[in-house]
Order: sequence, then structure tokens, then C-alpha cells
Amino acid sequence: MDAVGAGPVRPVERVVEDAAAYLYVWALKDIPQDLRDALGAARERETSVPGRRVLDTIVRNVEVADREDNLVCQDTGIAVYYCRVGEGFPLHPARIYEALRRGTERATVEHPLRSNTVHTLTRQNTGPNVGYRVPIVHWEFVTGRDDLDVKCVPKGSGSENMSFLRMCVPADGVAGIKRFVLDSIVGAGGKPCPPGIVGVGIGGTADYAMHLAKEAIARPIGTRNPDPEVARLEDDLYGLLNETGIGPMGLGGDVTVLQCHVEHADTHMTLNPVAVNYQCWAARRASAHVTADGDVRYDRDA
Ligand code: SF4
Repeated sequence: MDAVGAGPVRPVERVVEDAAAYLYVWALKDIPQDLRDALGAARERETSVPGRRVLDTIVRNVEVADREDNLVCQDTGIAVYYCRVGEGFPLHPARIYEALRRGTERATVEHPLRSNTVHTLTRQNTGPNVGYRVPIVHWEFVTGRDDLDVKCVPKGSGSENMSFLRMCVPADGVAGIKRFVLDSIVGAGGKPCPPGIVGVGIGGTADYAMHLAKEAIARPIGTRNPDPEVARLEDDLYGLLNETGIGPMGLGGDVTVLQCHVEHADTHMTLNPVAVNYQCWAARRASAHVTADGDVRYDRDA
């Protein structure tokens, strides 16, 4: 169906729609290899009996999903896409958005998937995982390219509910950032289905810090920030968070987080925003690369 008042759907728009429909389902069923490896390694190093049992169950859960071509978790999440659009890509972002929206609808209806999206006040369902401003799309525009990268990161509510923001003051420094992240994860306990990925966004403004935290959880597990200062913070936080003893599903153990990723932006001299976004063990993501000619390459590991 054509977008209302937007004219006919062009072939490349259909390609993006098909890619979105494929990515949403693929992400929900087939978790990336780096996540599988991290869960396997977590099971090996966990020493608590309840923790090992939880990790055994998680690994078995993934195997059953593979065998039965089924979802790894019943929560199909809220559909979130990250788009990196080259300046020469022959489709306006308004059209890309419509294509992602239709792809999300199709995936939900055709698979079918659970529809999670509701009006925030009335709590009435708004359709097949779409609604006002849903799906959520993050944009990055790049010069010197004519292609599109799109990554689908369905976000489960259990982990999304464990999102935190604090406007630290500059005098709080790095110690204040660490304390806030630690307090947030200790407060969250077992609610976000640990062990997962802790995303931390620092700098920018309040809204941008949270955006960065969300970007951080969408990175392949264990990748490090190219800024050595930030990478050191990632290492420190990863160690500290795993000393909390929260463990898998909050039942106690050595493995509370699979990783901690930090994204940063420069900020105002009187600001020190810190945002925390949690991604559960089912850290689903799937990517596609669309050329200007409409060819698609799917990428399991991006
Ligand atoms: S937080 Fe993640 S693992 Fe837990 S129910 Fe939601 S999607 Fe599933």
C-alpha cells in the first residue's frame, strides 16, 4: 500500500520495507554470534549453582529457538532502528521511515508477532507494533556515501524499564559517573533479565546522553570505544559491575553483566550528564546494508 498522500512506492523503498520486515523477525529469532559466545563464556565462568542453572537454561532456550525456528523471548519489544544514510542514497528519510514502518507492520502481521505498542495514556493497542512515533528510528547522515545501513534492535520492556539518567556535576568527575552506573545496576537487580549489556552515555545534553546509552547497547559485545579514556572506563565499569554479586537473573553469582559499553559526546563545561540503558541477555540485533541500486546484504554481526 502506498504511503497516504506520498505518491507511489519506488522500488528502492520496497527494498527497505522488505529489509525491515526481514530484520525484525530475524533479530527476534537468531541472536548474533558474539552474543552466543558471550553467553557460553559466562556459563563457563559462573561459579554459583543458581547462576549456572540460569545460564544453562538461557543457552538451552537459544538452542530450542534455533531448532524450532522460534523467538528467543516472548517479548517482541518495541521496534528500534538505527539508520546510517549516505548523502547520495536515492530515498528521502521520510520515505525510509515509511518503509521501516510498513516493514514492521508486515513482520508483525505475517509472522505473526505479539503487538506491544499502545497509546501512552489510554493504553489502547495502536496496531501491529506501530503507533504514533513508533517504530523509533535513530538517524545518522554521512557524506561521501550513497548507501544505507539499517540495524534493527528490538528492545524488551524489562530491560528498557531499567533506564536511568543523572545530571552529575563536573566536580563529581569520573568517580561520580562510576558511582551512578553502579547504583543504577544494583538498584535494578534482577529486573532487566541479567546478564546483559549495560550501555552508558556520557556528555552532550540530557536527551543526547540517553541516546548515546542506547547506541552503546547496540554495539557488538566487547567492542571498545576508540577513545582510550572511554575504553578504560568501559573496562573499569565491566569489572565493578561484575563484583556486585547480582548474578544471572538476580539470583546471585559472578556474572551480572556480559559487557559494559560507553558512548560519549563533548559537553558544556558545567554539565556532566550520565545515562544508563540496559539490554537484557536477549540482546537482539540484526543489520542490513542497502545499496543505491537496491541490492541488500544482511549482516549478522554488525
Ligand atoms: S527483558 Fe529481555 S529477556 Fe527479559 S522478558 Fe524482556 S526481552 Fe525477554
